[in-house]
Amino acid sequence: MRCGQTLTHRELDAILRRHSKDLDDPSRRISKKQMLSFYQAQKQERSPLIASLRLDDATDDALMRLLRAKPRRTASGVATVTVLTKPWPCRNDCIYCPNDISMPKSYIADEPACQRAERCFFDPYLQVSARLTTLANMGHNIDKVELIVLGGTWFDYPASYRTWFSCELFRALDDAGTERSLAEVRRRRRLYEDAREPFDAQIQALQDELQHSVDAGMMDYRCAFQALDPLRQAALPQLDEDVSEEELARLQHANEHAHARCVGLVVETRPDTVSVQTLTELRHMGVTKVQVGIQSLDDAILAQNGRGGSVDEVARALALIRLFGFKSHVHMMANLMGSTPEDDVRLYRMLMEDERFMPDEVKLYPCALVASARLTEGFQAGRWQPYGEEELVGLLSACVLATPEHTRISRMIRDIPSQDIVTGCKKTNLRQMVEADVCQKAGERAVREMRMREVATSAIDPATLTLRTSAYDTTNTREIFLQWVDGEDRLAGFLRLSLPDQHTLSEGIPVGEGQAMIREVHIYGRTSKIHEAKEGNQHLGLGTRLVERACQLAHDAGYDAVNVISAVGTRAYYRRLGFEDAGLYQRRPLRFGSEGR
Ligand code: SF4
Repeated sequence: MRCGQTLTHRELDAILRRHSKDLDDPSRRISKKQMLSFYQAQKQERSPLIASLRLDDATDDALMRLLRAKPRRTASGVATVTVLTKPWPCRNDCIYCPNDISMPKSYIADEPACQRAERCFFDPYLQVSARLTTLANMGHNIDKVELIVLGGTWFDYPASYRTWFSCELFRALDDAGTERSLAEVRRRRRLYEDAREPFDAQIQALQDELQHSVDAGMMDYRCAFQALDPLRQAALPQLDEDVSEEELARLQHANEHAHARCVGLVVETRPDTVSVQTLTELRHMGVTKVQVGIQSLDDAILAQNGRGGSVDEVARALALIRLFGFKSHVHMMANLMGSTPEDDVRLYRMLMEDERFMPDEVKLYPCALVASARLTEGFQAGRWQPYGEEELVGLLSACVLATPEHTRISRMIRDIPSQDIVTGCKKTNLRQMVEADVCQKAGERAVREMRMREVATSAIDPATLTLRTSAYDTTNTREIFLQWVDGEDRLAGFLRLSLPDQHTLSEGIPVGEGQAMIREVHIYGRTSKIHEAKEGNQHLGLGTRLVERACQLAHDAGYDAVNVISAVGTRAYYRRLGFEDAGLYQRRPLRFGSEGR
């Protein structure tokens, strides 16, 4: 590397394999992970070895990239950190929904994110700190972080818990990489462990007994939760959950200049909880994307699966989410009871094409039976069967081909470990199977869906990019989708501009007349450090040019100002682009041409 030659991942792996091959003593083998931590430690200590190497920034970057584990973790441009809320019931009781009482409703203890949460006592501060440490140790940049809060329905938790949880997320980000973080992690762990220890055996025994009753269909999640909760409460330390909204605002303000900045915050909830009031609360919390479980767009199928709510409710929720400027991320399921592959494709097309829905992102996964779900009864009675593999791949391929260029399919299979699936698809590579099927049937160029077109970890030559603009109408907005694409239609970045229909701005909507909304700006490529134009496609000015173009388009469409639903950690960036803080958003007045800017 220092003699001007680059080394690929494959070449380094081969060197390490050759080195380890003839060693009798396994402890002398060297892994990339060990090399990375050695290199990071030497840099931190400013060791004589590092000084003697006299590495410039470019070589340091190349080395870090070479040693970094799982480069796709930050391929979408940000480090993603998933945190879970504590075990809690849900108002609904959908028949396919897992009932693992050690987790919030619908999650399973064996899922990787759930295991991490449990090891952290579901404490948001501990979860964020642990994940950031892991990612940093793997060589990833952690200065731009997207937080994803999972745990069923956010608004089913008490308001005080929601405020505390939000505060602790930002506190953890603000402290990241400091001595304060290390001390606080130690302090909290000790508190949780000491409080839990006297009750541990008792909790485990009761939990096992209750879970057994739930699995046997003799008790539901809610009853088991209520029976277990007093003991769980007794085993919790006295943490200060009584934090105020002022404290949240203070922590958010600090995050604007913190080492680990929040560039996206996502929560999940049910459509029936979406209202002007709840969405306003989410904006105060700094949320930028809302995940909603819709599962099906057929009222009869929803009812058959014990799911409360209706298709109209989904339409109303998505319309409100759009008007507020949030990104919408919906969960849809194939193979629900009462559905067929043809129904699934038809309903998916409706989701993509009907102007009441048209979400930005979709998790589309097949229903699978887990032991604790009520679906067991339907399966045993022969009322539900999983689709065959070919049928499933075929229907998902049809869905991929029906997905427009402004929608991203983020997942095709849920992260349920195969040992927990009684019957249903266990293929963790289902997505790859579907992609291969799509390419074989229609060719890669037929795919418009975003994720398959993303440039992922590659750097791209900006000279090969063109800015393409398209538009579509929803019930209450005209959506303009701007994207940077290369000659092969690979996606290097995009922006979502929303032009609200002025007649649909009802009371309580925090968007004024004549105000357009930038709902999302995203540049792909390896994450680069904030303020350092060193890596990947970020910091090539692609984002700024998207914003400028969007402002021009909004102006041409007759709007006087553009709001941006900025994340807390991107506020400083938008201020530099001429946006001013304006309540729940940041706003830029539009004056072009002879009006001057
Ligand atoms: S709404 Fe979601 S969390 Fe609640 S029961 Fe249904 S699937 Fe489970």
